Amino acid sequence: MAWGLAALLALPAVWLCILLLFAGPARTAWREPVLRHPVLIIESDDWGPGPPEHAEALDRLAACLARYRDGTGRAPVMTLGLILSLPDSEAIAATDLSIYHARPLTDPAYAGILAALRRGIQAGVFAPQLHGMAHYWPDALLAVARRDPAVRAWVLAGPGQESERLPSPLQSRWVDASTLPSSPLPEAAIMPAVDEEVALYRSLFGQVPEVVVPPTFVWTEPVEAAWAARGVRALVTPGRRCTGRDAGGLPGCEATPLHNGQTGMGDITYLVRDRYFEPDRGQRAEAGLAALEEKTAQGRPCLLETHRFNFTGAGQEAALAELDRLLSQALQRFPDLRFMSAAELARLYRQAEADGLADDRASRLGAWRHRMAQVPRFTRLARLSGLERGLALLCRLAGGGA
Ligand SMILES: [Zn+2]
Repeated sequence: MAWGLAALLALPAVWLCILLLFAGPARTAWREPVLRHPVLIIESDDWGPGPPEHAEALDRLAACLARYRDGTGRAPVMTLGLILSLPDSEAIAATDLSIYHARPLTDPAYAGILAALRRGIQAGVFAPQLHGMAHYWPDALLAVARRDPAVRAWVLAGPGQESERLPSPLQSRWVDASTLPSSPLPEAAIMPAVDEEVALYRSLFGQVPEVVVPPTFVWTEPVEAAWAARGVRALVTPGRRCTGRDAGGLPGCEATPLHNGQTGMGDITYLVRDRYFEPDRGQRAEAGLAALEEKTAQGRPCLLETHRFNFTGAGQEAALAELDRLLSQALQRFPDLRFMSAAELARLYRQAEADGLADDRASRLGAWRHRMAQVPRFTRLARLSGLERGLALLCRLAGGGA
C-alpha cells in the first residue's frame, strides 16, 4: 500500500524533473504563436536572369497555381526568391576578369522573364522576395574565376548562365568563400551592397522587398541589420543562422534554434522553412503533404522549399504534375487550408491578436505537445516515463485533440 502510494507520488516528480530538464525548449515551444488554420506556402528560389525559356516555365507554373482556390477564394501563392543580376560577361572579359560588372534583370536579354514574373504577380499567384543582387559575392566569384577555368567559363558564358551550376560555397553571397574556410566580408562593403539590391528591387517592383531569403541561408548580423534598416520586414531562415562555410565548404551554423515569429536585428521577423518539395530530387507531393500534416499539428505554417531547377530542367513536366497533385491533395485533406505569401504570414505574426492566431489554451497545448515531440531526448524520456500519455490525456481533457 505504502509502496503504491510512493510510486503514485514519484511519477509526477519524475515528470516534473523531465520538464525542468527541457525547460528551455519547452518555453520556446510554448511562446511561439499557434496558427488557427493550416497554412501552405511554396517557396521557390533562384528565379531571375537566365535563359529565355524560363519565361515559359514561369507561365506554366502560374497557370498551374491559378487552377486552385482555398476556402476563402484565395489562389495558392508561390513565393519567388529573386536574383536580380548575372555577370556582364563582355564587360568583365574586357577587364581581363579584374573588375566585376553586373547585367541586371532590367537588361533586354531578360525582358521575357521579367514580363512573365510580372504577369504572375499581377494574377496573385507569384509573390516576389529578395534572394539577392547576385547569388555570389562578386569579388569572390572573380577571385576564383581567375584561377579556375570552369568558373571562368561560367562568368564568360552570359547572358543566360544559371547560378545553380557554380560551386556550392561560391553561391553564398554574404561571405567571401574564394578560399575555405570562408572569411567575413568587410563591414564597410555590406551596406552599399544591400542599398544596391534594395534599390534595384524597388525599381523593378515599386516597393522595397518585404521578405528576404539569404542565398544558401548564409548571412550575418550586420547583413540582417542592414536589410532591416532599409525596410525589409521578414527573413526566411532554415531554423538556424549559418554564418560561413567551413574548411570542407559546408555551411557553418549556430546551435541556437530560431522560430517563427521571433524577432531579430531591427525587429525583423523570422520565418522557418525547413521542409522540401524538390520533385527533381525525389521529394514529391507526398513529402509536401507529410510536412503539411506535421506542421499543422504543431500549429506552424508549412513553408516548402523548392528551386527553379525543378521547373526548368529535363524533369519540368513531372515537377509540374507533382505540384498539381500536391495542391489538389492538400485542399482535399485540409478543407480549412489557407494560402498566403510569406510577407502576409510575417504580418500575421506581428499582430499580437491576429485572427489567424489561436489564443485558446486547448489549441496551444495541443500544438506545444506536437512541437515537443520534435525534441529528440525529450521524446524518449517522455515515452519511457509515461509523461507522453499523461500529456495526451491532458490535451484530450482540454479539448485539444490527440
Ligand atoms: Zn538560391
